[in-house]
Amino acid sequence: MRKYDVVIIGGGIAGLSLAYFLSQHRSVAVVEREDALGYHSTGRSAAEFVLRHNAPEVCALARIAKNFFDRPPQGFTDVPLLKQRGGVVIASADKIERFEAVLAEERRFTREIERLTPEAAGSRVPILKPGYVAAAYYDPNFWDIEVENLLQGYIRGARRNGSEILERHEILSAERDGADWMLRTAGGEISAKVVVNAAGAWADPIAALFGVDPIGIVPHRRTAITVDLPVGVDATTLPEINEIDEDFYMKPEGGRLLASPADATPCEPSDVQPEEIDIAWAAHYVEEATTISVRRIAKSWAGLRSFSADKLPVVGFSPGRSDFFWLAGQGGYGILTSPSLGQLAASLLMDRPVPESFRHEALDPRSFSPARFQK
Ligand SMILES: Cc1cc2nc3c(=O)[nH]c(=O)nc-3n(C[C@H](O)[C@H](O)[C@H](O)COP(=O)(O)OP(=O)(O)OC[C@H]3O[C@@H](n4cnc5c(N)ncnc54)[C@H](O)[C@@H]3O)c2cc1C
Repeated sequence: MRKYDVVIIGGGIAGLSLAYFLSQHRSVAVVEREDALGYHSTGRSAAEFVLRHNAPEVCALARIAKNFFDRPPQGFTDVPLLKQRGGVVIASADKIERFEAVLAEERRFTREIERLTPEAAGSRVPILKPGYVAAAYYDPNFWDIEVENLLQGYIRGARRNGSEILERHEILSAERDGADWMLRTAGGEISAKVVVNAAGAWADPIAALFGVDPIGIVPHRRTAITVDLPVGVDATTLPEINEIDEDFYMKPEGGRLLASPADATPCEPSDVQPEEIDIAWAAHYVEEATTISVRRIAKSWAGLRSFSADKLPVVGFSPGRSDFFWLAGQGGYGILTSPSLGQLAASLLMDRPVPESFRHEALDPRSFSPARFQK
């Protein structure tokens, strides 16, 4: 029987980032149901890093994470984890009022924003359709995340610290055995003093398996497609395109253009696949806002973004328990917040003071506590 201080359920970015930080101090195993780590939401993201456009708490988590991305620990990665992409935020004629309000708000936070005439927007983003854009601004504060390198950095570091990462180990049942959990998995029995629920879309069903009240984590499906860029358009320098209300967004991905209709359809946890209608919406927006006529969709996929009721992550021990810990509800920002939430979760699990960066940001970890959902 293999015994660990902490068993983390879920081999996505959440579970693996925590394993990275915690394994420096505790014996840790990560158990993952699938053959491959990062198979679900983590492998399906748009790989975007932003400092704004989310709740203030999430923006603070992003600022904390940026230090890690810019200066990762020695040996973590051979390549930079962030690449500045920049973004052009656009509005069509019927959304000018909304555009002015957003622009005024964003300028309160950063002076780097540059208002663009429709012509200037067309020069920055040569695929924009003349006539569609009535107003635009450029914001340099958008980056691409090297998600695979980030994930591999966490995995390598966790293994170097002695963690075991066990694929094909679906948790099937759990029961108490004295001070420990006895976990029956698809790969055999293991025991743990503490279990961490980092099961993404499955966070609520996992809680139920442990006799813990679910807290209402709801998976929302989001779809993306990629299409070919016109010959001569350089994907490396093309900025993101963000519709002012996030009706859609587009960004280069692997030399092509990724487009998402920014759908957010509540659904059951599953190996979610894209619906025809959402693929059609993505293609529609490409044709509406750009000069690209979509003849062929190179790739389409869907993934789950899982939210709590207040859309903030859930990090902490289940109320009244010291054997069941939540690391869930990362919504649409689980990759970009992974260094900050991984460090926070490790500190809370070890009953240590929260990281200095959280104090510096005046970010109270109780904002993320599962206790806020207690009835
Ligand atoms: C289309 C799309 C675009 C996105 N864009 C961005 C973006 O630009 N930037 C950003 O930061 N975030 C983005 N996100 C969100 C981000 O992908 C998620 O927040 C993040 O991946 C969540 O990570 P996770 O580890 O919690 O979940 P997952 O990666 O889903 O991992 C959970 C794991 O738990 C495992 N599991 C479940 N039940 C069991 C069990 N019983 N036993 C063992 N294992 C189990 C699952 O197999 C799964 O691998 C996007 C998401 C989508 C879908």
